[in-house]
Amino acid sequence: MAKLRFLGAIQQVTGSCYLIETDTSKILLECGMIQGEIKPDKTPDKLFQFNPSDIDFVILSHAHLDHSGLLPGLVREGYRGSIFVTTPTHDLLDIMLKDAAFLQQKDIEWENKRRMRRGKKAVDPIYDIDDVEQVLQQLITIDYDVKIDINNDLNLCFRDAGHIIGSSIVELWINENGQTKKLVFSGDLGNSSSPLLRDPSIIENADLLLMESTYGDRNHRPATETIKEFREALSEAMDDGGNVFIPSFAVGRTQDLLYHLGQFYHDGVLGQQKVYLDSPMATSVSEVYLRHTQLYNLENPEFTESIKKGWKDWLPILTYTRSTEESMALNNISSGAIIIAGSGMCTGGRIRHHLKHNLCHRRSHILFVGFQARGTLGRALVDGAERVKFMGMEFVVNAKIHTLGGFSAHAGQDQLLDWAGHFDRQKTRLYLVHGEIDKMLALQKCCIEKYQWYANIPVPGEMIEI
Ligand SMILES: [Zn+2]
Repeated sequence: MAKLRFLGAIQQVTGSCYLIETDTSKILLECGMIQGEIKPDKTPDKLFQFNPSDIDFVILSHAHLDHSGLLPGLVREGYRGSIFVTTPTHDLLDIMLKDAAFLQQKDIEWENKRRMRRGKKAVDPIYDIDDVEQVLQQLITIDYDVKIDINNDLNLCFRDAGHIIGSSIVELWINENGQTKKLVFSGDLGNSSSPLLRDPSIIENADLLLMESTYGDRNHRPATETIKEFREALSEAMDDGGNVFIPSFAVGRTQDLLYHLGQFYHDGVLGQQKVYLDSPMATSVSEVYLRHTQLYNLENPEFTESIKKGWKDWLPILTYTRSTEESMALNNISSGAIIIAGSGMCTGGRIRHHLKHNLCHRRSHILFVGFQARGTLGRALVDGAERVKFMGMEFVVNAKIHTLGGFSAHAGQDQLLDWAGHFDRQKTRLYLVHGEIDKMLALQKCCIEKYQWYANIPVPGEMIEI
């Protein structure tokens, strides 16, 4: 009898990982990093709760590091089998895992210098660029909606999850003792108000359903309100004669922003303003988005035609500033610049340099377009701090801070319920994953009230039969 063990993203949102064991195969579904796990000063003793060389296949829903970030660790510890992904996920992993390895290398060098001064033993990175190259070698790409045979007993199909480019809902059929059982894993489900991506594919059949519950307790603000606020903040900045700084996540959010800014441009809203994408990583990711425009939600024909020629065709006032020199030169612009830079929560990256130079100016506008975790510089600014400390200095905050709450790459509560509502509730056992416990409890209550359907909440390490 096939079994599934809940190893990660259980009653929390990072470290997505599930182990499926059939009579003949061991399949790892997801290999995510727990946020903050890779810290040079506290590397965990054991990365995995299983032996990586025992795994036969890996299936990955999408490229975000909380789903994929430990793949290089897995191959470093001996995994040599196939890793099934979509083509856009392959392209994103190439950028994101390499970036993660590079950042880790820098952190380790810094940590080891510190250790040397204190006479302590140097530490090794949990993976390096060679391990990332090895992961890329092991990726097997498959298209959406194509059912493949992994072996005689296993069939796999990826369906569009609409969360980031290439993101998938996983359908897995397990044939054992003349019986077929079907597992559906939602991955991260997209928000149906995404301007670029399609709505999550509807699926109707499963014996076992694992559904994410990141926003199990609430609905997002309507996208139209957020877009209106975005437009107003840009106009206000133009009236103030200042620049706009947008800390942004490289994957998904940045491309949504480019879409909206293009729309504003065509509507004549931006006036003399110019847009700078000041993030080499977001620029590379935006190029990946261009390679897969056939996967977009094609409701806007003007955009569809334009984007085939590139982002600059859609947004002619866009400039990419890849080099450090180009980025530094942005400091010389005193007004009319809309600068998008990482990191999304201001914990690193070029945005910190911009904030350092511009937080003190009343004419500066900072637009937050994503979730800000507790303890980050972004969160302090959103919470209205009058002074903030970073890069070894204290800065007075005179800039105007805007928080645009309605952009989310995840389905809200009603969207989750609607998506789950297509399954046959008599037949399908539902388990909630990828959510904090209060979000899971809220969603569990809704499933009972709306569908008289009991949603199980697993505990970490729990094993169930499929
Ligand atoms: Zn994700």
